[in-house]
Amino acid sequence: MAISYEQGVAFVEGFAAAIAENKDYLTQLDSEIGDADHGINMQRGMQAVLPKLGSLAGTDLSQLFKTTAMTLISTVGGASGPLYGTLFLQLGTATAGRSEISPQEWSQALDAAVQAVRARGRAELEDKTMIDALQPAADALRTAVQDGVPFGDALTASERAAEQGMQATIPLVARKGRASYLGGRSAGHQDPGATSSWLLVRAARQAFAGDA
Ligand code: ADP
Ligand code: MG
Repeated sequence: MAISYEQGVAFVEGFAAAIAENKDYLTQLDSEIGDADHGINMQRGMQAVLPKLGSLAGTDLSQLFKTTAMTLISTVGGASGPLYGTLFLQLGTATAGRSEISPQEWSQALDAAVQAVRARGRAELEDKTMIDALQPAADALRTAVQDGVPFGDALTASERAAEQGMQATIPLVARKGRASYLGGRSAGHQDPGATSSWLLVRAARQAFAGDA
């Protein structure tokens, strides 16, 4: 089984839908340890992506992901725009010229994308950022795919790892981003970016699991 261009579009659309549904929740989380705009930022960015998808018909996964990246970078104020832009840009680089990719190739693309976000934001695990959801998701997917786990189950394991990583941000003291200004007072709150990253990993599972 492979991930098709159409499934790539479903992933991007599904992420946009999840952001729209959770806009107020993400902003509420950001109001606790940030500046109350994460849901607004992500909603603005993903809603700007949607009208561009029609004109991409007949292109490939790389064009889809790069267009998503450039749109997020140009429309989202705040840290999350360049960071999610970096993620999608690297997905685009990893899928250059491809209209479909294998599960292994998706896992490798996600690995490269998470690595690029880490480099861009200089964040590591337990800094209380989106990396705390993305890195465990990429790790779980890689392990499951390498072990020959059916792709649908591998995607479910990846989603669960992202959710656990998101929940694990609650007790952490932020070391990166706006929340780090709060020092110890950032503990006890779930990181908004880890939460939107869980939504991204969930959207991938929903779009790619198919009838695997
Ligand atoms: P801003 O903080 O500029 O208002 P957002 O509210 O849209 O931007 O996004 C905040 C989220 O961005 C945080 O919850 C965190 O997950 C993520 N973030 C901030 N700085 C970094 C970083 N250096 N590396 C990774 N993620 C980061
Ligand atoms: Mg914010």
